[in-house]
Amino acid sequence: MATTRIENATVWTGHRLPSGEVFTTDAVLIRDDRITALGQTARAADADQVIDAGGGFVLAAFADGHVHPIFGGLEQQFAPVRDMSDPREVAASVGAWARAHPESEWVRGEGFDHTLAPEGIFLAEWLDAEVPDRPVVLRATDYHTVWVNSEALRRAGYGVGVAQPHDGEIVLDTEGRPTGTLREWGAWRPVYRLLPAPPESTLMDAVTFASRSFASAGISWIQDAWVEPGDVGTWLTAERKGVLDQQVDLALWADPNSWRDQLAGFEESRSRVTAEGAGQVTAHTVKFFADGVVESGTSAMLEPFCDCPHSQGLPNWDPDEMKLAVAAIDALGFTAHMHAIGDFGVRMSLDAVEYTARVNPPRDRRWVIVHTQLVDPADLGRFAELGVVANFEPFWSKFDAWQTELTEPRLGPERTHRQFQTATLADRGAIISFGSDWPVTTYAPLEGIQVAVTRQMTAEGPPWMPEERVSVDAALAAYTSGVAFQAGRSDAGYVRPGAIADLAWIAQDPRAVDPMTIGAIPVLGTWYRGRRTFTG
Ligand SMILES: [Zn+2]
Repeated sequence: MATTRIENATVWTGHRLPSGEVFTTDAVLIRDDRITALGQTARAADADQVIDAGGGFVLAAFADGHVHPIFGGLEQQFAPVRDMSDPREVAASVGAWARAHPESEWVRGEGFDHTLAPEGIFLAEWLDAEVPDRPVVLRATDYHTVWVNSEALRRAGYGVGVAQPHDGEIVLDTEGRPTGTLREWGAWRPVYRLLPAPPESTLMDAVTFASRSFASAGISWIQDAWVEPGDVGTWLTAERKGVLDQQVDLALWADPNSWRDQLAGFEESRSRVTAEGAGQVTAHTVKFFADGVVESGTSAMLEPFCDCPHSQGLPNWDPDEMKLAVAAIDALGFTAHMHAIGDFGVRMSLDAVEYTARVNPPRDRRWVIVHTQLVDPADLGRFAELGVVANFEPFWSKFDAWQTELTEPRLGPERTHRQFQTATLADRGAIISFGSDWPVTTYAPLEGIQVAVTRQMTAEGPPWMPEERVSVDAALAAYTSGVAFQAGRSDAGYVRPGAIADLAWIAQDPRAVDPMTIGAIPVLGTWYRGRRTFTG
């Protein structure tokens, strides 16, 4: 038995008092992996270790309800291409990495800015100047654009006269030659099929990087939101090697074309995780992409886009097929984790839930709609009625270039200023949970919470859709108890005796600082099941 007392803190328990305020106390006692006492009882107890929190703020550890740890971690193992301001800067970085890694036959990069080149067309020759003899494959931060060099085009068999795929675009120049820009999965599939799987050491480096990063931000639970069969072994190896500082749930990706054939595999993956794992990894969830994203015109819309009046986007699923698929995985006891961006994507997901609740026997379920970007007014009340968790990535709810340059032209003003209705959905009784979607955006919960509370880009403002701002208490709850609810974890998300000792200690009370500085509050400590995973 090891006991730790954290004292001289504002301990934010997450429990609402009848007044609506969240109950706080001043100390918490941890024994092994559980919280055993609060306040005076905790202060009066013997402890092996006493931590003076220096007047800081202690709460249940953050939980990320939607994140891509392996993608994000692997990005760090590839050539750095993120946050650069010019395609030639990207190419130079790729060249430097290639020269430093002669052993790597393929040169990869993830996360370059797809708005850097005119009309989003990136030329193979810019990369050829740096890397002429090995294939280069770079994916943009939108995950819908890929930039390759001539050697990669050659290996994929892409030359003059190449046939266009039905589900993508090989961007050609005026003479019909591939430029080096590939849009959507159908266009880059032939290149990606050639990529060697990263070696186990690279995968472990990726998972270790991700896990340490999350711990440094106060996170002790994560939802890996897109798991392919090969990833299950990666997670089990990571658990066995002891590199995980979080509990991880895996969302197994459902393919609209072959979901019936996948069902047995989902059950096998879940059984394998139970049999081979030690409890740190679970596989309770199945991931659906109801639709795509607004920026690429692939979100599914009830009304056409403004800049493309013939298009209502691209549902990934036939709505009736999605109903059958959600019902099938629900019957097997899995949770449906449904990416939905457009208002038709959201409606399809709600319809699938409604259908499933009607045809399957009742049980305690946690349906989750993720991103929840645009919801038709008629559907707002259905989240609470059907018991669907609305998961948001709060860092997105600000009026930045992503909105002004890429989203508003497609949605038009009315729909643009109806996105991410966090407060409205909460008022209508929906459970709200938060996530980061890292590496799409920062994994730091406090940075997301700052945006949820302010919906501002800068201190000068103005707030975007100010009626959709939420209180700091509500934002903290969405990143703690909201995700615990989503995950079906009854012993997490609150600071109370008997709960799992997943805790975060931050330097200041986020309710007491200028809201525009919440994201800068230092994280001083993180605990996962009573084990200190980060010391700031
Ligand atoms: Zn995602």
